[in-house]
Amino acid sequence: MRRSQLFVKTRRDAPSDETARNAQLLIRAGYIHKEMAGVYTFLPLGLKVLNNIANIIRKEIDAIGGQEILMPALQIKERYEKTGRWDDKVVDDWFKTWLVNGTELGLGFSHEENLSPLLKNFINSYRDLPIAPYQIQTKFRNELRSKSGLMRGREFLMKDMYSYAISEEQHKAFYEKAKLAYQKIFDRLGIGGQTFLTSASGGSFSKYSHEFQTLSKAGEDTIYLDRKKKIAINKEVFNDEVIKDLDLTRNELEEVRAIEVGNIFNLGTKFSEPFGLKVLDKQGKSVELIMGCYGIGISRVMGTIAELLSDDKGLIWPEAVAPFKIYLARLGDAQDTVRAAEKTYNELTEAGVKVLYDDRRDASAGEMFADADLMGLPLRLVVSQKSLQEGSAELKNRTSESTQLIRLDKLVETIANNQ
Ligand code: ATP
Ligand code: MG
Repeated sequence: MRRSQLFVKTRRDAPSDETARNAQLLIRAGYIHKEMAGVYTFLPLGLKVLNNIANIIRKEIDAIGGQEILMPALQIKERYEKTGRWDDKVVDDWFKTWLVNGTELGLGFSHEENLSPLLKNFINSYRDLPIAPYQIQTKFRNELRSKSGLMRGREFLMKDMYSYAISEEQHKAFYEKAKLAYQKIFDRLGIGGQTFLTSASGGSFSKYSHEFQTLSKAGEDTIYLDRKKKIAINKEVFNDEVIKDLDLTRNELEEVRAIEVGNIFNLGTKFSEPFGLKVLDKQGKSVELIMGCYGIGISRVMGTIAELLSDDKGLIWPEAVAPFKIYLARLGDAQDTVRAAEKTYNELTEAGVKVLYDDRRDASAGEMFADADLMGLPLRLVVSQKSLQEGSAELKNRTSESTQLIRLDKLVETIANNQ
């Protein structure tokens, strides 16, 4: 992509009412635009990041047998009355609306009430199980406070998967697979080293649920972490019994702030029973299905990465989620510089390397370098009169800040192999 064709501009300052570091950086770098508290537009580069994150999740979830669907945002009131979740005192973050004829509807905050009735049409026997439909979809939540930028949206992108099993045993087998898939996902997203499996409150069907918590001062949660064993306990369930259950030692636990990037939950029969979702098991006995749910806040993950992987100059994207691999800056518009930069851009693009080419004639070197740092692409490549005198371009790594001159005829192979 050519920078001259990108309609978005970077800005020196974030809006004064934006207090979250992740949103400040993402707004300044032109990835997102703030509409109101907790509601953002994803601009071209921001949407690429969001999609990259979603696609990594998709691959790993497909690999454990998840099947992607897309459910509606508009929700039917009667279904939530069946499960007791229509009442605003029970679910305090509902957005509700109505049809022209006055029928009340809700905007989905989660989709258990959608999926269980849906599956009644398709699941007739234990042979149909286990299954795990999932979706990547916008959720609506009327959050009381939305001051954490992308990390607490009122409208946000979530991956939500729901598993259905014939028995506790079958449920557990899938649950454990999902746990491993989640850790893999956070590894691939570049935050695996700081993300820890955390026992949290479990509802009525299992003693604990599991959260994936990423260490950050900007986090809203407090957890007690055993760094060696790489597991943690959420403050909400922290007591001697849990410490013992998990075979941990109190004085080896560190109290730290963290961001809940995902969670997995045993829902038991809570959403099968009200909808009569039951089938005959092998012995011919009618049993209600055991359900699990598995969420990842995709936009929250994007905010988390911005929060963790950044410095005072700007963002530092891991290559797997970066919108482009290279920021190619062309300094000056001398004919041979333009020719060399265009050639480099074309060759890299043809080799499948994603390049953002700063071809602006009215931007100074200083502006280009500041933008490259702010936008946080993994590599910066500079083609200038000076570098061309050596038949080279200058390559800089955003993370290590190391620079090297690379001969133009070796550029494509060097960059395609540079991790
Ligand atoms: P929290 O305790 O942070 O409010 P939650 O327990 O309400 O989270 P779930 O309902 O389980 O979260 O949602 C699944 C995932 O969606 C969470 O693990 C989190 O990553 C993400 N998520 C939840 N609320 C938001 C939000 N307001 N904005 C962005 N992501 C969110
Ligand atoms: Mg919540």
